[in-house]
Amino acid sequence: MTDLDLLLSEAVDLFNRIDDTAELEQAKARYLGRHGELTNLLKGLGKLSPEDRPAMGSRINQAKETLEATLNARREAIQEKKLEERLIEEALDVTLPGRGLGMGGLHPITATLDRIESLFHSIGFTVASGPEIETDFYNFTALNIPENHPARAMHDTFYVDDGNSSKNEHLLRTHTSPVQIRYMQTMPPPLKVIAPGRVYRRDSDLTHTPMFHQVEGLWIDENANFSALKGVLADFMQQFFEREDLRVRFRASFFPFTEPSAEMDIGCVMCKDGCRVCGYTGWLEVLGCGMVHPNVLKHVDVDNEKYIGFAFGLGVERLAMLRYGVNDLRLFFENDLRFLKQFN
Ligand SMILES: [Zn+2]
Repeated sequence: MTDLDLLLSEAVDLFNRIDDTAELEQAKARYLGRHGELTNLLKGLGKLSPEDRPAMGSRINQAKETLEATLNARREAIQEKKLEERLIEEALDVTLPGRGLGMGGLHPITATLDRIESLFHSIGFTVASGPEIETDFYNFTALNIPENHPARAMHDTFYVDDGNSSKNEHLLRTHTSPVQIRYMQTMPPPLKVIAPGRVYRRDSDLTHTPMFHQVEGLWIDENANFSALKGVLADFMQQFFEREDLRVRFRASFFPFTEPSAEMDIGCVMCKDGCRVCGYTGWLEVLGCGMVHPNVLKHVDVDNEKYIGFAFGLGVERLAMLRYGVNDLRLFFENDLRFLKQFN
């Protein structure tokens, strides 16, 4: 019967062309479904004469089996193809170099801060921190900086409040000394503390950046005298630069919060007989220090008849530049990995 042969070859052709499972199931319904074309042929058997029925029935059943086998083979082929595509897509090329994990490192300023902290910690200093937005009281008044002191002028200090208001109460701290005030307000003497952190000044050139790091130190005790101050700082500098023979000297100076005050110099670590870094003097200014002014102790209710103490403040960038031989301060803040990688 040509009708059946035609139907079968048409269906087999169609099945073999299909690449998609859903489409294949639709084609199956078209031929083998309850109202499919082959099913309809089977239903039509009743109209045939009893003699023709068995032969025709068996031919239709054979065609049905062929079609079902084709369908199953096609289903498997589609699954296999899908799997193959997925394997190719998700293929892992083991010959590719790995992405690698970049080993991070400490910024030279962070490393210098760590070093300073650990050296002071080893002789009994506590590390304290405080807010970077300060009040006028903590940044100036409590530190015996009078109203007319140049450090209060607008060109030095970043004020946070509206510049038009008559009273500029909040500012970005210009030194970490306010931390000492806050510390003394909560801890009774004797005390030994350093305050490392970021400070801000309206200043920007080859050797100044608007933000830089300071470490301020404070030792309040019944007998923390000037010779103790010299001993602590000389010892610190010798250890920081790893030079036992490092020369130090103290020159009289002025700071509102210390009396007497001094600048501390160290022998140039770059040269023996003078170089550009030390201005051909053989000496480098490294920090300011002095005996805490009695007025400062009075502001925090410490008995200034019983207790004395000394304070010092150093610039972290300055020490890092000298220790590592860096000649441009801005390099620390440009975040150029070619520069930063040299310290790790
Ligand atoms: Zn020098």
